[in-house]
Amino acid sequence: MAMLDKPINELNLVPFVSVDDMMKIILEIGVENVLVGLCEYLEEDFRRWDLFDKTPRIASHSNEGVIELMPTSDGHDYGFKYVNGHPKNTKDGLQTVTAFGVLADVDTGYPVMLTEMTILTALRTAATSAMAAKYLMPKGSKTMAMIGNGAQSEFQALAFKAICGITDLRLYDIDSSATDRCIKNLSNSGLKMVKCDSEQSAVEGAEIITTVTADKQYATILTDNMVGAGVHINAIGGDCPGKTELHKDILLRSDIFVEYTPQTRIEGEIQQLDDDYPVKELWQVMTGEVEGRTNDKQITLFDSVGFAIEDFSALRYIRDQLQKTGHFTNLDMLADPDDPRDLYGMILRAEKNLS
Ligand code: NAD
Repeated sequence: MAMLDKPINELNLVPFVSVDDMMKIILEIGVENVLVGLCEYLEEDFRRWDLFDKTPRIASHSNEGVIELMPTSDGHDYGFKYVNGHPKNTKDGLQTVTAFGVLADVDTGYPVMLTEMTILTALRTAATSAMAAKYLMPKGSKTMAMIGNGAQSEFQALAFKAICGITDLRLYDIDSSATDRCIKNLSNSGLKMVKCDSEQSAVEGAEIITTVTADKQYATILTDNMVGAGVHINAIGGDCPGKTELHKDILLRSDIFVEYTPQTRIEGEIQQLDDDYPVKELWQVMTGEVEGRTNDKQITLFDSVGFAIEDFSALRYIRDQLQKTGHFTNLDMLADPDDPRDLYGMILRAEKNLS
């Protein structure tokens, strides 16, 4: 635990939240409380959407995956996340998605926090999904199907429980050991869980369908015949050019809600549709600018790809927990000569001190 006798950021030290610190913060606050807290920060930022700098994330693609930078600013703080997506990594014992991020002060340009974001991304993705569902799912939804039971899955399940009141989960993964792990990890969550042997069986009776698979291809996790009237689809895994989960016919039957249209056209399920196909942005539903669910026959689809403002909200949330929890280390990562222009002199003085 860092010493808290000085305010964070004094002496140009930058608070760093390691993976270990992040886990301590989450355990101290409680996973479901963190998800609810993140949802509040997300709602606050989605409601002031116009204020933010927005750009589709900057992606560097390779045969095996993608590395992306996700920047944004509200004019007061600036944040960015570095994130990768490498579906084959798990075969070598590595994560599909890893991330870290920085929050900075716009007035000075100085970073005010550096943090792990692999765990934080899973939390913010889940909180964003549940926030979208709160506005779009059929009223009183209790059962969610979850197809793909990898790293993101427990977070998704707990967010839907804490934020949407989901009580029942129907789980399917092509790798049945993934489902077993997910069920074991959630055994004390209070969720009722059923392990299913196909996508078709998983979606039976579910009001919400979450697809959260990883495969770098145009996959068809759900076909049109599997999706009944009135369901809400939370599609998480199609988040890259050439990487989708839903059959195009499902999109044509759904009302589609996205985070930031220019990015989702490149990366989301809607890359399968024409560039001018009508979609609505989630923030517009939240501010009442457009309607969300209007009837109980409507299929609503949250075509999630993950947008920079969600990471910004997550960075703000974690920054605000630092003083309370003390779980961070101060990093000496900013050169701070006494005379700001005498940067070289710093090296000379260091040399003297060494000799
Ligand atoms: P993961 O590799 O840990 O888990 C993916 C799971 O999907 C695996 O268990 C795999 O067996 C399963 N799977 C693959 N193909 C399947 C199929 N056809 N049917 C059923 N199951 C199948 O990956 P993860 O970290 O859980 O991420 C899942 C997806 O979510 C990835 O595509 C990732 O890029 C995406 N993601 C999206 C966001 C967002 O904001 N939208 C954020 C984080 C991750």
